Order: sequence, then structure tokens, then C-alpha cells
Amino acid sequence: MAERNRTPKKPIIFYYLISLVILFVINAVVLPMFMRRQVTEVDYSTFLAALEENRVLEVELSGDGQEIAFIALDRHGQRQTYVTVAMPDPNLLDRLRSSENEIRFSRIRPTQPNPFLTYLFSLIVPALIIIGLGRLFSRQLQTRMGNMMSFGKSSARIYVKAQTGKTFADVAGQDEAKEALMEIVDFLHDPEKYTSIGASLPKGALLVGPPGTGKTLLAQAVAGEAQVPFFSISGSEFVEMFVGLGAAKVRDLFKQAEEKAPCIVFIDEIDTIGKKRDHGGFSGNDEREQTLNQLLTEMDGFDSRKGVVLLAATNRPESLDPALLRPGRFDRRIPVELPDLAGRIAILKVHAAKVAMSPHVDLEAIARSTAGASGADLANVINEAALRAVRMGRSRVEQEDLEESVEVVIAGYQKKNAAISPQEKEIIAYHEIGHALVAAKQSDTAPVHKITIIPRTSGALGYTMQVEEDDRYLLTKEEAFARLAILTGGRAAEELVFNTATTGAANDIEKATRLARAMVTRYGMSDKFGMVALETVTNPYLGDDTMPTCSSETAAAVDKAVMELINKAHERAISILKDNMDQLHALARYLLAKETITGEEFMQLLKA
Ligand code: ADP
Ligand code: MG
Ligand code: ZN
Repeated sequence: MAERNRTPKKPIIFYYLISLVILFVINAVVLPMFMRRQVTEVDYSTFLAALEENRVLEVELSGDGQEIAFIALDRHGQRQTYVTVAMPDPNLLDRLRSSENEIRFSRIRPTQPNPFLTYLFSLIVPALIIIGLGRLFSRQLQTRMGNMMSFGKSSARIYVKAQTGKTFADVAGQDEAKEALMEIVDFLHDPEKYTSIGASLPKGALLVGPPGTGKTLLAQAVAGEAQVPFFSISGSEFVEMFVGLGAAKVRDLFKQAEEKAPCIVFIDEIDTIGKKRDHGGFSGNDEREQTLNQLLTEMDGFDSRKGVVLLAATNRPESLDPALLRPGRFDRRIPVELPDLAGRIAILKVHAAKVAMSPHVDLEAIARSTAGASGADLANVINEAALRAVRMGRSRVEQEDLEESVEVVIAGYQKKNAAISPQEKEIIAYHEIGHALVAAKQSDTAPVHKITIIPRTSGALGYTMQVEEDDRYLLTKEEAFARLAILTGGRAAEELVFNTATTGAANDIEKATRLARAMVTRYGMSDKFGMVALETVTNPYLGDDTMPTCSSETAAAVDKAVMELINKAHERAISILKDNMDQLHALARYLLAKETITGEEFMQLLKA
């Protein structure tokens, strides 16, 4: 991965040890040398001999008359200090006086150490050493802090192609996400093509999806494909270090990115800085808010034509501040959903290629048994299987290793995430086909575009997507009623096939109730009330909040009319499904096996 350019630093303890040694040497060796001169003890006759030979230069008689200290030249002509016992020698004084060289009577052996030197060596020198080391430390600390502050030097990791080494080939499945990112890569390859007709690319693309679906991987692949500098930082890194630095780091990041353009800036886990700002409470998280504000400012300030593309990833899009998602900021949202069967097979293949596999393994069987698993889970399955093969003393991964590791990885995962059991999957499949069949068998409906029983980021366990052929602004009474029937179709299928009802229809019920109520109170579509507004919309910008504008008796009657409308729609759904039981079973089986089917597949099966 990326290499941080840090020079290896010796630990601080190293410098402390050095200073300890220096102080010790001063105390034990240098100080004594200065405090008293080296003194050699000799006998009296040596003293007399030196006197004879005129080598004595200075003499001192100690206070009590017991000792004589003297300085004399040694055999090499060097001054040396000696001490000897004093003999009761009355002639000594005359002899000294009559010596040929003039002997000085001076103080030779200080009985007390020189107070100045003591002061110098015991206080000033250690103090100087400590101050010096302190300076050294603080300079190092400063450069280290400097590194932290200047973004590109240590805390940002710059990936280029050779370093991420990832390309789109490493990302299996996720074709829609790859296609959307492809455009960005193309732009970075050849910005001329876009700028020459005045087009500018979206400033930011937000990868949204559950953990482990390959968002980070996709961003790295974009960098690899585009072969441009890739600045990567995770949201938590902005916040972690020092208070007030988050905003500075954002500024620095964008400054550097503009210098290096064309390039990609990737902010992983952007929800850590991009959380909704709330204005209640006293303290709030000022630091995070400043960082977010700085990010918003920078995003407004930079010009995407220069070739800086901002990518971000999150698995909690609903918690992001709406200001971030405004046009001109992260205006493109790229969903990265959990893989379906085909996607899981592809992911298993990508990762299986990295380990030694027996040619007999059936990856499709493994993919079938791992519904709801993410790409990261599947990568983990392969790795666990390889580890197990090693434990078993095999040189290749066999099917049983894979099956065993599915148990280990997915079973734990299923408990954690309450993933879908096979029975639940069957119910969900019938539920979704119920919606789709009721849609297909009525005339006033939009065609089915896609049906899936892969759980969505939104929390839905499956969904049936219809897409109108052209833009619609008006809804006829018949179309509205057909829509109600489609919404009840899921529950109707559950009732017909399993003779029971599940909580899975909660969202359908809510939508159906809202639509039916609007039909009665606002669209004038009930025979009983006609064109009387029974509710008014209070705020058209904030959802469909309404206020009743009728008496409470009328309100009770409205409730009744809404119920009747929904019941009628439900009956229609039941009758449609009863008439097409064979197709319901066939399609549900097919969906169960494939997990995601397209509109065309659906229509073909329906005609067959
Ligand atoms: P996210 O950022 O969405 O949480 P990552 O990108 O970190 O997930 O994915 C974690 C790992 O899971 C990847 O390094 C890769 O090994 C594996 N993985 C996830 N999705 C895919 C995929 N579509 N194809 C291949 N490997 C994948
Ligand atoms: Mg990630
Ligand atoms: Zn439903």
C-alpha cells in the first residue's frame, strides 16, 4: 500500500540515556581533574633529590607542618605536583632559599575545591546540556507537527496506479457502479473531450451501500484505471488529531489536489464528518461542524473543469447533511448494493483465483448458500477455506473447505445481521412476484423494470421496480386504483400461497393508505364525496403533510371510504393472482433461484 515518508526516529529515551552518560562522565572524571590537580605521593628523599637537581619550582608547607607539597619538573621536563611527609629538618628553609632556581612559596594544594569550578561543573554545564537537548527535542517535535499539518507529507496517502494496483477487473459484479465511474475515468483521461463542448463533470460522486460491498475497492480501482494521483483520506482522520485542525486539513487537501490536477480526492466514511448538523443542544460538535463547513466551502470553490474529482463513500447516506447532497456538491449518487447470485459467483471467482483451488469445486453452489453476504464476506469465505485446507494438510482448497467456511463466516454473519432464512426468502419471492403479476395483468400500469429479493440499503427485503415509459404528470382514477391493487398484491400473494400474513407488507400498507386517502380527500376520486377538498396540504415541500378540513363526522366517513377503497383493491389483487396461480409459482421459483430478474426476463416468462 502507500508508503508514508517518515524518517525513522530514535525514541526519546535514547537521548535521555546519552545525557545521563555525559553527566556521569563529567562528575566522575572531568570534575575531579579540575577540582584538584593530580598529586603524586613521594618520599622525602625524592624531594631532596629534586631539590639537589634544581627541579623544584614551588613549595608549600601544610598548616600543621606535617606535609610538604611541591611542584617540580619531572624527567620529561613537565610540571608535576607531589606531596611528601615533612621531616624535622631545620636546614630545609635555608636550603630552599639558597636553591639556584628561585623557589616560590605558594599555595599548591587547595584544601577546598575551587568554588568557581564546582559551581561551573555541577550546575552550569548540566544546565547547558539540558537546555541544548530540550532545543533539539522541540525542533524535532516542530518538524513532526509540521508534517502532520502539511497534508501531503505524512497524513495523506497518495496512491498512484502502481501503488493501489487495483483495476476494475478486481471488482466483480457492480456493473452499474462501474459504468458510472467509468465516465469519471474517461473524463480524467481526456478532459478536452468534455470541456470542448462546455460540459463539466459532476463535482462529486457518492458511493452508497452496505459495509463490505466494495466501495473502497471501487474508488481504488478508479484511481488505478485513471492513472492520476489519488488522494485518499478517511473521514475519521479529519477529526482525530487536534481540535481545529480538521478544517485546516480540508483546506490543505484541496489546495494540494488543485496543484496536482487532474487527480482524484477520495473521502472514505464521509459520514463521520458529514453528519447532519443539528442546532439543538448547547455544545454540539463544533469541531466536526467546522470541518464540514470547510468541506462545503471548498466544494463550492473548486472548478471541476480543472480535473479534480471528488469521490466519497458512506454506508449511512441517510445521516448525511442535506447540504452535502445538494446539486453542485455530491450530486451523483452511485448505489453499491449487496451482490445477487451472479454477482456472488463473480466475486468468488475473483478471490478464488488468488488461492490454489481444486478443479472440482462448485463455486455456484457456494454462491447459492450465501444469499445476503457481501463481497467482503465472500472474500473471507475463500480465505477461511484456504486456511482450513492448510490446517488439514492439503495443498489445494476442496469443496468441503468452502462449505465449512461458509458455516463459520456466514453463520456468524447471519446471527449478527439477522440475514434471511430460506423460508423467509421464499415468502419474499412470492411477495415480490405478487406485486409484479398484479402490475402486469392490469392495463393501466407501468411496466416492471426489475425485481429483486436482495436486501436493500433502505432496509427493504426485496422490491419490484416499475418504470413509466414516459414522464407522467397526471394520474387517472383507474391508474390510481391499479396502483393500489399493485401495492396490495404482495400481501395477497402471501395470503394465497402461505395462508398467512407477514410484517413485510408494512411499507406497502403505508403507501396504499396514503394514496387511497389522497384519492378520497384531495383528488376527488370517490363517488361518495365527489369534488370536495377534505384535506389541505400544509407544506408541499416537506412531504405530504395534510390537515383535515372537514367535520369529525365527515372524517369518520372518509376513513370508511379509504378502507373500502383499499379492500376493493385487495380483492382485485387476490382475484388476479388466483387466475394466474401457475405463473405465480413459476415466476416465484425463478426469482428464488436468480434473486434478481430484469423486466425483459419477466415478460418473456409471462408470455411463455
Ligand atoms: P466497503 O468499503 O464497501 O465497506 P471494501 O471496499 O473495503 O468495502 O471491501 C472489502 C473487501 O471485500 C475488498 O477488499 C475485497 O476483497 C472484497 N470485496 C468487496 N466487494 C467486492 C467485489 N465486488 N469484488 C471483489 N471483491 C470484493
Ligand atoms: Mg470502506
Ligand atoms: Zn411489498
